[in-house]
Amino acid sequence: MNYHEDRMLYENIVFIGYFYKAYHISILRSISILVKFTNGIELFILCTNKKMFTKGSFMYANNVKIFKQWLIISTLFFGSIMMAGCDNSERDYLSLHNNSLVVDLHSDTPLRMKDGFDFSVRDTSGHMDIPRLKEGGINLQVFACFVSTDTPLEECRPIVDELIDSLEVHINHNSDQIAICRNASEAEAIINENKIAAFIGIENGVAINNSLDNLQHFYDRGVRYLTLTHSSSNDWCISSGDTLPAFNGLTDFGRDVVRKMNELGMIVDISHSSVSAFDEVLKITTAPVIASHSCVHSICPHNRNLTDEQIKAIAANGGMIGINFFDGYLSPDNEWFKIGDSLGNVYHELIDSAHEMYPNDYNKRNEMLKPVWDIMKIETEKLGINIKTIVDHIDYIVKLVGADYVGFGSDFDGVGSLPEGLDDCSMLPNITKELVMRGYSDKDIRKILGENFIRIFREVCK
Ligand SMILES: [Zn+2]
Repeated sequence: MNYHEDRMLYENIVFIGYFYKAYHISILRSISILVKFTNGIELFILCTNKKMFTKGSFMYANNVKIFKQWLIISTLFFGSIMMAGCDNSERDYLSLHNNSLVVDLHSDTPLRMKDGFDFSVRDTSGHMDIPRLKEGGINLQVFACFVSTDTPLEECRPIVDELIDSLEVHINHNSDQIAICRNASEAEAIINENKIAAFIGIENGVAINNSLDNLQHFYDRGVRYLTLTHSSSNDWCISSGDTLPAFNGLTDFGRDVVRKMNELGMIVDISHSSVSAFDEVLKITTAPVIASHSCVHSICPHNRNLTDEQIKAIAANGGMIGINFFDGYLSPDNEWFKIGDSLGNVYHELIDSAHEMYPNDYNKRNEMLKPVWDIMKIETEKLGINIKTIVDHIDYIVKLVGADYVGFGSDFDGVGSLPEGLDDCSMLPNITKELVMRGYSDKDIRKILGENFIRIFREVCK
């Protein structure tokens, strides 16, 4: 080859050589470069993604021999990348999941803790313990201390105190692996020590027994969110399940609760609230609110889920929604509950009496309802509710308002029926896998996994 030919080749193959970073590999996108050489050789190269390309350094061949060597090496190199692309999704989603901050906004595990189980041992019952939290890559877990609206008012505070006591006992017994956080900085310090940050929430405003002093008491104990109401209304906040509301949304005291929470630096949780209560809260609050465990009403028209207007209002407020993993709230067109209804009165009566008999005892209630859940499981499996259904709800919110306002609010240990592929908290990475498969960017996945909540935690709880 003479100088002229060599020179032409040189001019046409200013080309790429860049560092391979395993992290980006799963995003094997079809950005392709066709290099047409003057000698008629065509080389078609797939790059892993734009980011890698722009990060790359240029390489050129200054003579044919070097070029040929480079051609062989790069073909092997890119070939191996393309081959690796086949199983990359699996490797990469785990890497992404495990290197991200993962938050779950709602579990009812304190109800199980109170009845005594070893939180440090991998259990076969329930949905959560320390080994399974670690397997699920969860860095911050909200433990909701639940009290039923059916509880006599004077018993509410002691019941919640007992749940917090028992949560503290379990956490203190495992202090090398988990610790309580009261603000975002504490959470980050705990997570940096490779421990799980435990966030205390209370589910149902009935807990404060109509007293702002009790709200202060729970704040002083480390509680950082309060779900204003539950399946039936309390004295000051109307529930989404209330068909005959005694007042409109919030009472004056209810409004004072929201103001006091803003003042203290406690997150207002509007899951379970009626639309009227939701509207009142959004009018008053000076801080972002959350719906800790709710889904999308447009997909599953259940009163526990949020309408498009509510989702937009939460986004405008800078808050977020934790997607609930309960089949009943995920099921398109409310089919899960329709199956329940088709089982007739026996089904509803059994559920009602279990809640009446054991309003605050998860284990006994679950034992009593096991035959119901077993029948429901057989029937509802036909609906095919799975990880994709969860991501459909996430997708809907992202398309409506963006990726900054959604996360997870599992309701683990509080529900009897979970989607296929999500038997317990250890299987949370399956959701990340589906997000990766749907082409979500790493940045958006990280927001959904946990950054959105940390933003709110930092803003509200000083
Ligand atoms: Zn709930």
